[in-house]
Amino acid sequence: MTALHDQDLARLRGALDARAAVLRAEVGAIDDEKADLPRSVPMSQVEDDAERGEERTREAMRHAEQERDIDELRAIAAALERMADGRYGSCVDCGIDIPLARLLAQPTASRCVPCQERFETSHRAVPRVSLPPAID
Ligand SMILES: [Zn+2]
Repeated sequence: MTALHDQDLARLRGALDARAAVLRAEVGAIDDEKADLPRSVPMSQVEDDAERGEERTREAMRHAEQERDIDELRAIAAALERMADGRYGSCVDCGIDIPLARLLAQPTASRCVPCQERFETSHRAVPRVSLPPAID
């Protein structure tokens, strides 16, 4: 069980909700930006390879940004779920209480610092971001 007080939980929940609202707005804004792309221009008009490469890079960056936001939204949803069933604030790996200072700094934290470091070390080889398919 967690040693968190109700007012700490309420504060963390508020932080998670606020962050989720910002992220949802961001993801929405990225979608809007995408909708603004001139879809009527046929690909045959994009003749310059450099230009196409640039567009692909921009697209990849937008995509990476969106992936990060969506990852964070997932982490927030998971944190809210842990809160709902009383597991929030306990390290998912070793079960100790995650220090309140760590939770306040990072409300989505699901591990204590040593477990998080171990997790990141063993997962470092996995790429965080995948490139979208070519636009060709
Ligand atoms: Zn731990």
